[in-house]
Amino acid sequence: MERSAEPEFRIGESLMPATYDTLKRLGLLEAMRESRFPAKHSVQFFSGKGSASAPFYFSETDLGERAQTWQVLRSEFDPMLRDNASRCGVTVEVGSSVREVLFDDAGRAGGVRLRDKDGERLVTARVVVDATGQSTLIARKLSLREEESELERNVSYFTHFAGAHRDAGRDEGATLIYQTQSRRSWLWFIPLPGDHVSVGVVGSIEHMVSGRGSDPQSVFEQELADCPALAERLESARQVRSMSALKDYSYRSRQLSGDGWVLVGDAFGFLDPIYSTGVFLALASGEMAADAIHAGLNEDDVSAASLGRFESTLTQGVDALKQLVRSYYDPDFSFGAFLRRYPNRREDLVDMLVGRVFERSPEGLLADLEDHLAVTRVERAS
Ligand SMILES: Cc1cc2nc3c(=O)[nH]c(=O)nc-3n(C[C@H](O)[C@H](O)[C@H](O)COP(=O)(O)OP(=O)(O)OC[C@H]3O[C@@H](n4cnc5c(N)ncnc54)[C@H](O)[C@@H]3O)c2cc1C
Repeated sequence: MERSAEPEFRIGESLMPATYDTLKRLGLLEAMRESRFPAKHSVQFFSGKGSASAPFYFSETDLGERAQTWQVLRSEFDPMLRDNASRCGVTVEVGSSVREVLFDDAGRAGGVRLRDKDGERLVTARVVVDATGQSTLIARKLSLREEESELERNVSYFTHFAGAHRDAGRDEGATLIYQTQSRRSWLWFIPLPGDHVSVGVVGSIEHMVSGRGSDPQSVFEQELADCPALAERLESARQVRSMSALKDYSYRSRQLSGDGWVLVGDAFGFLDPIYSTGVFLALASGEMAADAIHAGLNEDDVSAASLGRFESTLTQGVDALKQLVRSYYDPDFSFGAFLRRYPNRREDLVDMLVGRVFERSPEGLLADLEDHLAVTRVERAS
């Protein structure tokens, strides 16, 4: 059930290469290759002083054709996924808003109550998958949502421009991440189909809102002005969407599954936009949940433990990405300085930026990151 009757704008435009295997399993690679979505081969980071890291090309690891991914318009990408599900035999209802999940006295989920153009109705199901994104239908209802206190409470303002300056060749579709000079916010530059680009700013709620009024357009412009390297790219561009605003507080549900229900994507948790992990984690957790449900139905066991059998795999991967996110927000961190100290960690870092967090342990990289931050702090203090 999808509540939006028509495809609509949604944030989450930059994919990670690790979405490849799920897209392949869904039979969607061909459609992605033939789509008008720009190919993304790398990500590049710019410091507040304007110095650029060397681009992190995904092909630096042994990925073969999986080293390329795409920058998507969700208003086209999401319907592609839905139409594909439909072709595979799924009954897809658009314009159907789920009002509540139905639980029996023992707390087992047994279906949903929904509203569509014809009114309200009940649909029964052996398993309910909550994929409602930041609405977090089940986690809110059962008070399972917890903010990730180690990460900052951020807010984001974003829009699209036409006619921005793009790099040439295989860098044309790269995601560029810029820190502002004040280092109190960062901006993304994500090339989209045609000559459009997505640009957004992310900063703490204290910096972006407190004492600065509540006009997102004006705050966005102030932050862009504090980022000359990006402002230059947009010099002759024009804004083609009104400014959107979203809180991007990190949160996670205390439970991934219960008897007869399981959470996927943002309905389970949201990390941070910095490494474009959201759609990848939604697809990966969706795939893991699908396998768990399939096995559970075959075993006639749709208990919490059965449906949540992938919990440790998922949370280990999310926790690894979370540590990389925390490093980015640490005032003592820069990719350049880290790689000068640990040049042998470049490939591991690219692996994380690719999203290869489930099949490989990033422990060595994460330990060196911690170490680097501790040493840098001591150096700065002395
Ligand atoms: C500022 C910002 C920038 C981001 N940039 C990126 C990026 O570049 N790349 C990336 O991968 N991720 C990015 N993300 C994260 C990404 O947007 C999400 O992680 C991702 O969309 C999660 O997918 P999902 O399917 O779980 O949820 P969603 O994409 O939110 O989908 C949920 C769906 O459920 C529907 N729905 C909700 N409630 C109901 C209901 N009651 N009944 C029926 N339908 C319902 C909604 O209409 C929607 O279609 C960003 C996030 C933020 C905040």
